[in-house]
Amino acid sequence: VENILEIKNLHVHYVTEDIVVKAVNGVNLEIKKGDSLGIVGETGAGKTTTALSIIQLIPDPPGIIVDGEILYKGKNLIHNTEKENKQLRGNGISMIFQDSMTALNPIMRVGEQLTEAVMTHKKVGKKEAKRQVIELLETVGVKADRYSDYPHQFSGGMKQRVLITMALLCNPELLIADEPTTALDVTIQAQVLELMKQLREQYSMSLILISHDLGVVAQTCNRVAIMYAGEIVEIGTVQEVYTNPKHPYTMGLFESIPKLEEDKELLYQIEGSMANPAALPTGCFFHPRCKYKEDICETISPAWQGEAHLCKCHFQVRDEVKA
Ligand code: SF4
Repeated sequence: VENILEIKNLHVHYVTEDIVVKAVNGVNLEIKKGDSLGIVGETGAGKTTTALSIIQLIPDPPGIIVDGEILYKGKNLIHNTEKENKQLRGNGISMIFQDSMTALNPIMRVGEQLTEAVMTHKKVGKKEAKRQVIELLETVGVKADRYSDYPHQFSGGMKQRVLITMALLCNPELLIADEPTTALDVTIQAQVLELMKQLREQYSMSLILISHDLGVVAQTCNRVAIMYAGEIVEIGTVQEVYTNPKHPYTMGLFESIPKLEEDKELLYQIEGSMANPAALPTGCFFHPRCKYKEDICETISPAWQGEAHLCKCHFQVRDEVKA
């Protein structure tokens, strides 16, 4: 299956007068048609910056893509004109953002907002646009009689369904969802994730799901990439990475998940805090927090190890632990 998206050696910085924040530091990714990839990491790992780069929405200034390529169906998006970017966001790639309130106009009826978007993107008349909107709303589980309601009349879960509708209006081939269910309670979250999974299959879309939550990714994606300090440190199928995590950071993330029967006091937390992207450590970016660190880790950045399941660590730590 061909790659729909290929990211090569992506570096993104935010540059101000005093500091350079190195948010993304050499990301490589491939997404095939129909693929669903979860990107997991703590706040500040570079997940959202990676996503905004793909959809060409890095705020410039202060953001700059300093190096790399983002190939969408073979075309490097970094050289796109603003007009081409608008077309891309209208037809090829859609993104659902964390904050649903910023995506909807609070003083316009939801159905009308969606109808207007269809009219703009698809160049169809109002009657046909409205028909398409009602059909899509019903597909995502919003009844037609909500067409004339305002955003504040929708619950969190319903609002998220409206945003998914908005993202689907232009038949995207790639959907990027940035923490789409973080604000929802667990039951509603599961329903929305199930809906996304079902829609991805129904519309043969590829999906990139950004989350700090390994559980959310397991419910929705086939593959997972773990990000730390602007780098991917481990990538593989959900099955592989969840049953055999290899990078110490990934292992720490799994150990930090509260288990129902456990006392929260005993919860393992990865010591220290996320590396400061304005003053990254030398060698392996994770070394100040890593309990398996050796001298080499402080000076030399590790190369990738493995084939389908890749890990950026000098040692196959998991195998050593098991041995
Ligand atoms: Fe830890 Fe060294 Fe592996 Fe980095 S390279 S994760 S410091 S063991």
